Amino acid sequence: MITSESAGVPQRVSTGRLPGWDEVESLTVTAHERYRDLHDGTVADYIPVLAGADPGLFGLAVSEVSGAVHRVGDSAHTFTVQSVSKAFVYALVCREYGHEVVKDRVGVNNTGLPFNSVMAIELNDGHPMNPMVNAGAIATTALMPGATPAEQWELIRTGLSAFAGRQLTMDGTVYASEMATNHRNKAIARLLESYGRLDADPLEIVDVYTRQCALLVTAEDLAVMGATLADGGANPVTGEQVVSPDVCRDTLAMLAASGMYERSGEWLFEIGIPAKSGVAGGIVAIAPGKGAIGAFSPRLNSAGNSVRGQRAIAYLSRALGLNLFASDADARIGGTVAAERTRS
Ligand code: GLN
Repeated sequence: MITSESAGVPQRVSTGRLPGWDEVESLTVTAHERYRDLHDGTVADYIPVLAGADPGLFGLAVSEVSGAVHRVGDSAHTFTVQSVSKAFVYALVCREYGHEVVKDRVGVNNTGLPFNSVMAIELNDGHPMNPMVNAGAIATTALMPGATPAEQWELIRTGLSAFAGRQLTMDGTVYASEMATNHRNKAIARLLESYGRLDADPLEIVDVYTRQCALLVTAEDLAVMGATLADGGANPVTGEQVVSPDVCRDTLAMLAASGMYERSGEWLFEIGIPAKSGVAGGIVAIAPGKGAIGAFSPRLNSAGNSVRGQRAIAYLSRALGLNLFASDADARIGGTVAAERTRS
């Protein structure tokens, strides 16, 4: 077991700054232009009503921690947040119980298996392992405070609204369509119950979880929600302190490990920032201390990640200098370091 001491240890951060406003604006526009004619991937249809989404939609937004927001394309189009909600409900549960309890009850490791895997539960003695896929997310939702499922749902809705900086509402049609067909999620919840891993009625929790997935957001909302996690928990637009810096750090670590399902390693290798995707085509990608990108485009790859969203975020990660693992001695002090190294 790996643990990290925080008491008595100096707390510093390791991030830099975004380029200026004009450059972020023009690169956001370019990212959209580069990929708007890309038509790869297919719209999710296992939730029947999602099959009707317009595959041509494509929105991008970048929210800076300064509160500036850049928008392009269908950035104001609403869609259901789906699995992107897992990141923010996780943060709310971490806010309530803290690092250790959530690590112990839910787990923090990638399962390496698809988001709706039953096998991942069986392989780990019923321990859900990963809060960013359905089993772990259902277990996380069950940990939400609230005396009744209705109260839990309201705390989720208001909590995610605080991240977005506006009141979010649920799409009743998507919720009903998913509730009529989500036998697999109900089975996952029952399986967790059978292992003693769910402190709640399984069907009631699946109901709350399905509601959280049906909250309506825009790409701009995702950018602001993500920028709140990038900003030590303070919403850069409203100024509200939604969660603590510690919760942001824990949530972003989770997203880095597991936010893009079984493709999370590849995502980190190529793009280098924590992100979370959902089957309606949303992705939020977060650059700690700098800001976040919200993307929406309904065509998905086989893991359930938006194709255009991924490509646009990959472009912006490079162009805006977001990759957490990138360093360059030349960039550090205007080229002199590398020049001196060559001389000596
Ligand atoms: N509501 C969806 C489900 O539970 C969310 C899945 C997703 O976005 N990957 O199946």
